[in-house]
Amino acid sequence: MLHCGKTGSPVPDTLRQDQDPRVTLITPSAPISTPSHGGRAKCLQRLVRLDLPVPRTVALSFDTVHRIAAGEMPDVVAILGEFAPGALLCVRPSSEDPDWGGPGSVLNIGMNDAAFVEYSERMGPELASDLYKRFVTAYAIHVARLDPDVFEEIDSPGEEGLSDVLRCYEDEAEEPFPQDPAVQLAEVLRSMARAWEGTTARLLRQAKGAPVDAGLGLIVQEMALGLGMGECGSGVLQLVNSETGQPQITGRYMSQSQGREALQCEQSSLYLERDPRGPSLEELAPGAFETLKDYAALVRCKLRVEMQIEFTLENGAVHILDAIRVKRSSRAALQIAVRLANDGIISQQEALMRVEPRGLSELLHRQIDPEAERDAIGRGVAASPGAATGKIVFSSSEAQASAARGEPCILVRRETSPEDVRGMHAAVAVLTERGGMTSHAAVIGRGLGLPCVVGAARMGFRLNDKTLLAEDGRRFREGDTLTVDGSSGQVLAGAPKMIEAALDETFHVFMSWADAERDIGIRANADTPADATTARNFAAQGIGLCRTEHMFFEAERITPMREMIFADSPDDRKTALARLLPMQRADFIELFRIMEGMPVCIRLFDPPLHEFLPSDRAGLRDLAEALDLPVSDVTRRVESMGEYNPMLGMRGVRLGIAVPEIYDMQARAIFEATLEASKEGAPVVPEIMLPLVSACREVELVRNRIDAVAAAVRNERGRDFDYSLGVMVETPRACLRADEIAQHAHFLSFGTNDLTQMTYGLSRDDAGRFMSHYVQQGVFPEDPFHRLDAEGVGELIRMGVERGREGNGGVMLSVCGEHGGNPESIAFCRNAGIDYVSCSPFRVPVARLAAAQLAIRDKIG
Ligand code: PEP
Ligand code: MG
Repeated sequence: MLHCGKTGSPVPDTLRQDQDPRVTLITPSAPISTPSHGGRAKCLQRLVRLDLPVPRTVALSFDTVHRIAAGEMPDVVAILGEFAPGALLCVRPSSEDPDWGGPGSVLNIGMNDAAFVEYSERMGPELASDLYKRFVTAYAIHVARLDPDVFEEIDSPGEEGLSDVLRCYEDEAEEPFPQDPAVQLAEVLRSMARAWEGTTARLLRQAKGAPVDAGLGLIVQEMALGLGMGECGSGVLQLVNSETGQPQITGRYMSQSQGREALQCEQSSLYLERDPRGPSLEELAPGAFETLKDYAALVRCKLRVEMQIEFTLENGAVHILDAIRVKRSSRAALQIAVRLANDGIISQQEALMRVEPRGLSELLHRQIDPEAERDAIGRGVAASPGAATGKIVFSSSEAQASAARGEPCILVRRETSPEDVRGMHAAVAVLTERGGMTSHAAVIGRGLGLPCVVGAARMGFRLNDKTLLAEDGRRFREGDTLTVDGSSGQVLAGAPKMIEAALDETFHVFMSWADAERDIGIRANADTPADATTARNFAAQGIGLCRTEHMFFEAERITPMREMIFADSPDDRKTALARLLPMQRADFIELFRIMEGMPVCIRLFDPPLHEFLPSDRAGLRDLAEALDLPVSDVTRRVESMGEYNPMLGMRGVRLGIAVPEIYDMQARAIFEATLEASKEGAPVVPEIMLPLVSACREVELVRNRIDAVAAAVRNERGRDFDYSLGVMVETPRACLRADEIAQHAHFLSFGTNDLTQMTYGLSRDDAGRFMSHYVQQGVFPEDPFHRLDAEGVGELIRMGVERGREGNGGVMLSVCGEHGGNPESIAFCRNAGIDYVSCSPFRVPVARLAAAQLAIRDKIG
């Protein structure tokens, strides 16, 4: 193994007792910790413990740096005394979490006129001038805070450039460049300490999650310059590809002897590719290259993290200056974690803890290549992740026509309604002016795995002119190409480069580890066979919510549906429903088949009926033709069904009581499908759920009718079956009265979308208009439709759970609102004693991992 001569101590250990206690030489046993000295200092100590050739380094604690900022300087001469006389030093930041940033490093401290003469002899005046010039410039800009432009304009080379810089410093600072290394070091330490305490830096790091009182440590390290007669240079090296996570030696190496970048290494083997511009590190210094690979492997194994090592070569000898966690995409994070666990370096539990659950959605969808250029033209709520490129269309029918031509399209609407579902199926992405996380477009988009940006209200939606205006005023017309990035909420012009979804074997192995840990069930909200298949692919434990109304928008169903709505008598209604029955039965048979005996929870019809009626003239005329009625009659009837506040009107169980034939038909379809599907495999036990309940009597009434339908089907078929009946708890009153409601129900499922809407008195379809103002100004910490409001809505849920269990000890409890796919909300549900959460199929993996992490955190305490 190569050793750096510079790691030896110039100060005898006996003198160390007199050392300033605020300054700690990094040795294997020195009292250094991340919370007191920062991550970089701790990491360097670990490298020292591995006996790697780390240049001599001292660490200044958070407290020391804080005092420096307040004007209390440690003994700088003593710090210099830790290093060889005349050594050049660098100072680097060491915050607790590297993501919190910190002031930039300052290199080559100690360079002055005398050192310049010495270095000129050793390395020639060109390189020595360059070194000195760079130090003066950095010092001028970052320490003396002089105008950067003045220095950056100096481009004369060599000694002339150096004289220019020194002169410029003197002119601007009105004093000569400081020659005393102690003064230089003290000023660098002071300026870095103060920079950390500045308001801008504080706000920036707080935005990245740093606490208000986050500290900064500093390390002072002897420079290993990478200068000499043999192969010299500096670079970084890592063992994995940051994008894919696959083993691949990558890095950069700048050779001094070549005087230029000799190697940009990116290879999938253990060899560094020959750089077309020059020889590779492997060719220039094969021994050093082998040593670096060994060091990187040792660091990976002992620090148990994939690290990028920063090194210099000095006459072929390796110095390790630093190591930082390899930057990684989400897909790389998963690959790296699984490989570390498979190599026995970390446990499976640790591997699970190392992947951010939200990041998984990057693996499940196509994404814009992070390296691609983005021509952003607008922004809205990132409502359904993934990205897609297509031509603009402004209506569902155009979307279908475009799909029929094989042209990917982006459906642009003011907002979507159930009428747009077919258009959404045909589009590759959706963009709306209105709406929030639980608006129609968002919910359907997530269900379909369709990238979706909603509430892009600052763009101009001129649907009549078939024009979309960018936030900067650019004009886009039907047929122009757009990209919707549902992961970031951005809308982009053109077609940036994409990266594909990555659902490989490693992903499935990783998710199976998560399932072994978690202790809360995860189901999927799935309305169609395609949704159910996705739910199975993502290993959901059943369907927690099948929104049956989505089944009625198919072309052949909408007409009988409308006839049913227009029926004058119960008999006419039954006739229309009889046409829908076989279709609905077939829907359920297919769902039961796909789910193969897993639980399927079917919610009876929920939306207000007028959502199924046409709103434009052409639609009204078509309906009049189908019903053989004058258009004026149809228009009047449609208008008479309008409600001032449809979300609080005749919908959900209210419809089930006022127009009971609909629920009768649905119950019959479910039971007949149950018998059919049970013939083929394990007996199916359907779960039937009533929406928008607020009173116990509603449940009693509907339950009696459903029991009667069950009895009739049993009689007709001469076969028995079981089913369970549950209630959606999505009104505040249902939470308050959960004890008596639970006495009539096998299960309660909290519909947190409506519950949030009603608890706040906040329309889920309109919240997007002002939500960003509310979140920015701290009125709400987060969009409550996105992350469950644990204080208010959560209080109602806790009450509902407690009262529900009081009323019925065996009642099963779940959450089926969109919050079921949000990691923080899952934590709330688990603490509240919820048995399972149900979310859009594409969020199931996120929920599985988030749930596993919660269980692991509890286990490891
Ligand atoms: C809910 O309200 O939380 C729910 C799941 O139902 P929907 O979103 O269909 O209203
Ligand atoms: Mg609801």
